[in-house]
Amino acid sequence: LNRRVPEPPGQDEIAQLARTANATLDRLERAIGRQRQFASDASHELRTPIAGLRANLEDASMHPEDNDLRAVVDSALRDTDRLESIVTDLLLLARIGTGAAAEESIDLPRLAEAEIARRTFALKVSTEFDGEVTVRGVRMQLVRLLGNLLDNAERYADELVTVEVSREGRHALLTVTDDGVGIPPEDRERVFERFTRLDAARDRGSGGTGLGLAIAREIAQAHGGTLRVVERSRGTRFALRLPLAGE
Ligand code: ADP
Repeated sequence: LNRRVPEPPGQDEIAQLARTANATLDRLERAIGRQRQFASDASHELRTPIAGLRANLEDASMHPEDNDLRAVVDSALRDTDRLESIVTDLLLLARIGTGAAAEESIDLPRLAEAEIARRTFALKVSTEFDGEVTVRGVRMQLVRLLGNLLDNAERYADELVTVEVSREGRHALLTVTDDGVGIPPEDRERVFERFTRLDAARDRGSGGTGLGLAIAREIAQAHGGTLRVVERSRGTRFALRLPLAGE
């Protein structure tokens, strides 16, 4: 979107077409900027009342004499946590792809190994890495992307999560696979939409915001890559493709 058509001098049709195309791109870019600004402003505005609410509730929870009141306050505190996570995730979504964060060279197998080591998986995790696979990216964002896939895999797997990194032509390919309930074919795109939960009764208690995969895909796309669900007979596999550094 940052690219503009070269504008030849003069008044002929090509010159006019080029100017119209560029003016439209300018307008589009400003509109997207306003959208992002709105999401960012709204998230910041929401943070203040949430912080106030939390402080009051924490204060109230210090008085444990009244059991009924305590239960109400504890439940309100949990709602506050939830609100806070949603606001944080929305703010992150508004920021991805704005070019504000610095890029660096990142070796994907090393990043994946570090992320797996940092977690205490209750399940078995098997990894397969194919030498050095370097991409350009915003480290914090790629950590978040992978973290979201690992969180889901761990949540839905029966007993095994597999993480693989390899090269495929000019791309790095990272897959996270679990042996759990799977995602029905008709929902394989829908899970990337904001606030999607396939099974509200099952998922709501999970503490997720329903924004995890929307964030993951937004990060993949901001890095010139893709994130998809791969068809499988059992369990779920997410495939992340990112351009290799220097390609
Ligand atoms: P949440 O915060 O609810 O985890 P996500 O955007 O990460 O939100 O995921 C959206 C929905 O996609 C989940 O609520 C779940 O229904 C489904 N889902 C995600 N990952 C998996 C998986 N590995 N196996 C089965 N279902 C999944």
